[in-house]
Amino acid sequence: MAVIGFIGLGNMGGPMAANLVKAGHQVVGYDLSPAAIDAAKAAGVTIGESPAAIAAAAEVVVTMLPGGRHVLGVYDGDTGIVAVARPGTLLIDCSTIDVDSARKAHALAAANGAASLDAPVSGGVGGAAAGTLTFMAGGEADAFERARPILEAMGKKIVHCGGAGAGQAAKICNNMILGISMIGVCEAFVLAEKLGLSHQALFDVSSTSSGQCWSLTSYCPVPGPVPASPANRDYQPGFAAALMLKDLKLAQEAAQSAGAPTPLGAAAAQLYALMNAQGEGGTDFSGIIRMLRGEG
Ligand code: NAD
Repeated sequence: MAVIGFIGLGNMGGPMAANLVKAGHQVVGYDLSPAAIDAAKAAGVTIGESPAAIAAAAEVVVTMLPGGRHVLGVYDGDTGIVAVARPGTLLIDCSTIDVDSARKAHALAAANGAASLDAPVSGGVGGAAAGTLTFMAGGEADAFERARPILEAMGKKIVHCGGAGAGQAAKICNNMILGISMIGVCEAFVLAEKLGLSHQALFDVSSTSSGQCWSLTSYCPVPGPVPASPANRDYQPGFAAALMLKDLKLAQEAAQSAGAPTPLGAAAAQLYALMNAQGEGGTDFSGIIRMLRGEG
């Protein structure tokens, strides 16, 4: 069992760290939020003095932070975790961040003799608590093999996507598909309503024909056909529209930086920006159907 540092004990990081404790690891955590620290302590996480103090003593350091600037802020500088980590320490960043920052984090680690992996997740807070997350990892094969047993304590599917940044690339490409497909499904239901076609009839046809997709069959944006979908509980998340907007913006940044044409990704980002501007950032992302109907 390993000594694992865990920085960022929020909605996702808290339950992920708790699962590492359950698997028998010694977990030393850190967060800026007193509430996150209290919850982690209750789950058996020891709290360290600072990210640097934790990294100096750990074999593995996991970060689960809001964005790229937070990750690089913790990694970089004289008191950053990269500078103080012992040679060979494995750094795993599970946050969803931009590809360029992820590659910078890898470069910092490599320059200081640390192994590193970008390993963002899908599965949300429920998956973090249940230990059923999907991890998409980028980095050297050796780092991936070292990380695998640790990631397996927090998730059930672990995919090595390629070199530095490939995990983040997979995450934002997947979520761009999700954002676009959800808007497509919502538009079809809105059109069906105007044409007098019932929700169930559209679902029964499209779920077994060429319109079939996850946004329809697992996460249907109207109440009824898929009882577990957020539409049945007034669009409580689930996956909040603010997080979808974050991922779509990351996809747009990456598309611009790489010169990839993504006109529907851009349109999806604009529509989710509008939903957020209307104060609906905390609503499940499938609730965009209400905005498309023009409901205030
Ligand atoms: P969160 O805001 O609940 O947690 C982030 C934590 O980081 C907070 O507790 C905050 O205090 C802490 N923090 C910020 N800066 C810090 C620093 N410098 N040092 C130590 N702690 C610091 O967010 P979350 O929902 O746990 O999301 C974390 C990451 O996971 C994000 O990148 C998010 O995009 C990604 N993600 C979230 C979900 C989800 O459903 N919530 C799903 C998949 C991926």
